[in-house]
Amino acid sequence: MAAQTNGHVENTIIIGSGPAGWTAGLYTARGNLNPLLITGNDYGGQVSVTYEVENYPGFPEGLSGPELVDRMKIQAEKFGLRVEYDHVSEIVVDQHPFEVRTVNGKSYFAKSLILCTGASPRYLGVPGEKELTGKGVSYCATCDGFFFRGKDVLVVGGGDSALEEGLFLTKFASRVRIVHRRDELRASKILQQRARDNEKIEFVWNSVITEIHGGEDGKVNRVSTQDTVTEAAGELQTDGVFVFIGHVPNNSLYGGKLDLDEDGHLIVDSRTRTNIPGIFAAGEIMDKVFKQVATSVGQGTAAAIQAEKWLADYEAEGYEGADHDPREWPARAYNPMPVREPVAA
Ligand code: NAP
Repeated sequence: MAAQTNGHVENTIIIGSGPAGWTAGLYTARGNLNPLLITGNDYGGQVSVTYEVENYPGFPEGLSGPELVDRMKIQAEKFGLRVEYDHVSEIVVDQHPFEVRTVNGKSYFAKSLILCTGASPRYLGVPGEKELTGKGVSYCATCDGFFFRGKDVLVVGGGDSALEEGLFLTKFASRVRIVHRRDELRASKILQQRARDNEKIEFVWNSVITEIHGGEDGKVNRVSTQDTVTEAAGELQTDGVFVFIGHVPNNSLYGGKLDLDEDGHLIVDSRTRTNIPGIFAAGEIMDKVFKQVATSVGQGTAAAIQAEKWLADYEAEGYEGADHDPREWPARAYNPMPVREPVAA
């Protein structure tokens, strides 16, 4: 149905302020779409809590996550991106223009949306974890590492994040034990080598944490463990537990509205299009494989280019103001490119 708007309709609204969002903002701003980006509560996304980014091309000396986010923002604003520091509470997608509502009670209307809401850390889900978060349990070494100077910490996980953040924690902690559920790491070889070479790092193989305990001062003092091979129960004394066991997509806005895969990522086609014409997605909300700053930037670029093409097509087709449910628009309204058939050899 055609939406009752408040008189102003944006060309495109970008939701999320991680690398995908800023890049979509940069490209749509340079494409003269006068875009609006709504940051969300987790300003900058996951990279903003990364101590050092050393694999983003063009910065051979590396730079901090917050600095990279700042630079992306400055670059996009230079071309006219408008930024609202607000958190989206609801999107309405069975009408056009689409509506975006925020926790501050604002309501925006837009012809197209670029969804870049990213992902958040996965929790262990064991007793004591919630109660002791901020009292020794952490999901951000950059934010909390400083408080563990001279202390003993555990890092849970065997991927790049666990090793990278574990290495960072050796700047403060006296000992960093990496607790992994298998005896083989998932992390890249270079990080594995660095961790093995670091004398403050030890590995606790084939182990999971089953409970986190606090002492009389209300802070973490030990964890219960279980051996994943022998099932034997154990215990480790420690001052802190840093959890890096992957991420879950921030999809609370989309359930029942847009197609999600079994892990909760938005399903998009090779051109970042969701199942609703005019709605695109980029970054970790749609990417379950690569999850790099560089790939999020690429996906943000692609989504912006597609949104621009879609808007041009939408206006050329005379859909503007038409009384259509966007979910029922014909494919050609958002898919102007011919399908390429394989060519016989
Ligand atoms: P990840 O690669 O998915 O690794 C998660 C780790 O946590 C795995 O070792 C997994 O064990 C373990 N795990 C998962 N659920 C668990 C549970 N319930 N209890 C105990 N352990 C559990 O996640 P990530 O390390 O956050 O990395 C995510 C993506 O970002 C990856 O693509 C990674 O390459 C990328 N990344 C890159 C960099 C970099 O390039 N410098 C830095 C950080 C992240 P299993 O191994 O047994 O599955």
